[in-house]
Amino acid sequence: MGLKKGDEYLKSIKSLRLKAHVLGEKPGDLPEHGLVEPSQKAVAFTYDAAQDKETRDLFCVESSLGKYVVNRFTHLHQSADDLVNKVKMQRYCGVQTGCCFQRCVGLDAANSIFSTTYECDQKHGTNYHERFNDYWGWIQQEDLVVDGAMTDPKGDRSKRPVEQPDPDLFLRIKERRSGGIIISGAKLHQTGMLNSHEILVMPTLTMRPGEESWAVCCAVPTNSKGIHYIYGRQASDTRKLETYKLDVGNPVYGGQEVMTVFDDVFVPAERVFLDGEVDFSGLLVERFASYHRQSYGGCKAGVGDVLIGATALIAQMNGVDKASHITDKLVEMIHLNETIYSCGIACSATGEQTAAGNFQVNMLMANVCKLNVTRFPYELARLATDVAGGLLGTMPSAADLEDPLAGKYIRKYLAANPEYATVDRMKVLRLIENLVAGAGAVGYLIESMHGAGPPTAQRIMIRRQAKLGEKIDKVKAFLGIK
Ligand code: SF4
Repeated sequence: MGLKKGDEYLKSIKSLRLKAHVLGEKPGDLPEHGLVEPSQKAVAFTYDAAQDKETRDLFCVESSLGKYVVNRFTHLHQSADDLVNKVKMQRYCGVQTGCCFQRCVGLDAANSIFSTTYECDQKHGTNYHERFNDYWGWIQQEDLVVDGAMTDPKGDRSKRPVEQPDPDLFLRIKERRSGGIIISGAKLHQTGMLNSHEILVMPTLTMRPGEESWAVCCAVPTNSKGIHYIYGRQASDTRKLETYKLDVGNPVYGGQEVMTVFDDVFVPAERVFLDGEVDFSGLLVERFASYHRQSYGGCKAGVGDVLIGATALIAQMNGVDKASHITDKLVEMIHLNETIYSCGIACSATGEQTAAGNFQVNMLMANVCKLNVTRFPYELARLATDVAGGLLGTMPSAADLEDPLAGKYIRKYLAANPEYATVDRMKVLRLIENLVAGAGAVGYLIESMHGAGPPTAQRIMIRRQAKLGEKIDKVKAFLGIK
């Protein structure tokens, strides 16, 4: 099986016949649901880009598991250059789609599991690494989308998994049977889940002795028996169901989130990659988090490009692009966005080889990258709102534009720079609204804050990785302090 095209991917997802609870309904044909379709198109883009002669060199790479070419979204990084190319690819996808294209989570999970299972086998004599390589070779050759599922509901935050009144608040192994395990629990905030063929389940935090049942990593198909999906709401999401695409803001692509419930799902032994080894749960979480914090340096910078472009364009449309305070604000936006990207590149270029042979990002810089991402998109959004003006929050709907009387007045009174049609000005304003306050803000702002862990998680990692003691010793040495 070679690399799939976007429409082949869409067909393959449709054939899974996934069902989800969406706004109180259970639709029969999920891929064609108006809410789901834009996010599926964003994933399909990652397939088409691997076929496009302009971009295929960036998207296609030789597998390390066999003699075949894979989409970089399934690649096990073999060098620091691979890590850098991953971020470049993500920025490209971000600027082309203006939203989350979802496929990076599985890639980050795979690279973390690959190295962690190797080290776990060395210590415990398990055979998870070989199992994982067999599994991932299949994923690469079939060119599948894999969702990495980490975030548990976590219940009472003051309690450990073992202390929760309901043990399922952290996903766990409920039963060990000959031939496999039964898992029970849920994973929240799953962006790419409904557009994936497979799920890689991982623990959500470092488990301790006594918490073996929660130290689980495994793979299951998204259409497994016992899995239930409940769709999350986004601000202005139902605009995607309306006739007029202008009000959606991003007329082609979009994001979505689902809660995924695992109600006694059977996992065969050959798909289990961690089963009670609590001492490797934390390593897996840290590695995954660092890879995904690196990822944000690419994708959020790409979406930032869209916001900067839209802001510069609306300034032209409003006739204020020559004003010095507008130029200053645009330069500030570019500075913030390129800082995000620079950190993504820096943590990739200084990445190092793991014992298993693949490459891991520089964890300190990856966490600095993500900490910047929790702040800078908000500042970019503030500046875009400032430049765009108050119409961003008060503009009439596309339906009113179609009305003979209202439409005449809208065209007359929302006209600005005569070089641009009023409707085009409305399109740009809706796109900015989408990113700073509409459905797109889920991916660009809320996800920037909480995706791959909230700011506190990065601060903890920065403190851990910073080698503060070494810095103190250096100062003592040159000051002659004992
Ligand atoms: Fe990829 Fe960014 Fe979406 Fe994460 S948030 S899956 S890095 S596009």
